[in-house]
Amino acid sequence: MGWTERQLAMLREIGIRLWVPPADVQPPAVDTALADGRRARTKDDAALAEPPRAVATMPRAREATAVPAMPTAPVATRQRVTGVESMDWMALREAVANCTACRLCEGRRNTVFGVGNEHAHWMIVGEAPGEQEDLQGEPFVGKAGQLLDNMLRAIGLTRENAPPERQVFIANTLKCRPPGNRNPQPDELAQCEPFLIRQVALVQPRIIVAMGRFAVQSLLRSSDPIGRLRGRVHRYHGVPLIVTYHPAYLLRNPVDKARAWEDLCLALDVLAGTAGGGEPFTSS
Ligand code: URA
Repeated sequence: MGWTERQLAMLREIGIRLWVPPADVQPPAVDTALADGRRARTKDDAALAEPPRAVATMPRAREATAVPAMPTAPVATRQRVTGVESMDWMALREAVANCTACRLCEGRRNTVFGVGNEHAHWMIVGEAPGEQEDLQGEPFVGKAGQLLDNMLRAIGLTRENAPPERQVFIANTLKCRPPGNRNPQPDELAQCEPFLIRQVALVQPRIIVAMGRFAVQSLLRSSDPIGRLRGRVHRYHGVPLIVTYHPAYLLRNPVDKARAWEDLCLALDVLAGTAGGGEPFTSS
């Protein structure tokens, strides 16, 4: 099979190394069911579906910007934020920064609003800030964030300044860090949800990529495992939504990077208008 240099570079970005047969060896038959029951989407994808042989070497962690840790005084009164559904970007940013709707405001150093192009075609939704994100006030800046950046780069996207078709908007379901990186609690997700809904409404993305269990729970109201939800096109308020593994999960389970790659390819196909079928799964 002839991989172009560009395809090989994309795969390297997300840490998938392909076994390339010597020139005089025929590649194996392609449309065979994979050992785990998945079927290759296309001839070319068959090789992609092969589990990576090696984990990518992750680039060095970004230097943490030293932000003085301000001990946050316990909040006496928690206040639900109202009117989120009609806020503009500035009001929304301010509302998130000042939010005291749940207990997470008590331990945070920074809220993590989200980053990227306010008119991005792609919106990436993760789970919740971790330690580095809490310190820096930006989503996905730890190790998982480096992998996310590599995944995005592999399909020509970035979080850095770029036109809307190339610069994504990255947001989390929670805007504050759960202490000790524990799982988000249902009431915290519920309190924070209006912010994400408004972000989606303002960005008006052409596609949403939901990464991990909590993003999926929030956006699709589904507690099905990622493995069951990925591989088809869902809908969130009419916007096509692709489910994939969380980058932190992929760091622990690099064998699933091949599947994450398939998910990104599906998202590309949806945007290109060459996919979009599947069972619509409307959350609202
Ligand atoms: N994991 C997430 O889901 N979001 C972040 O911002 C960081 C790690």
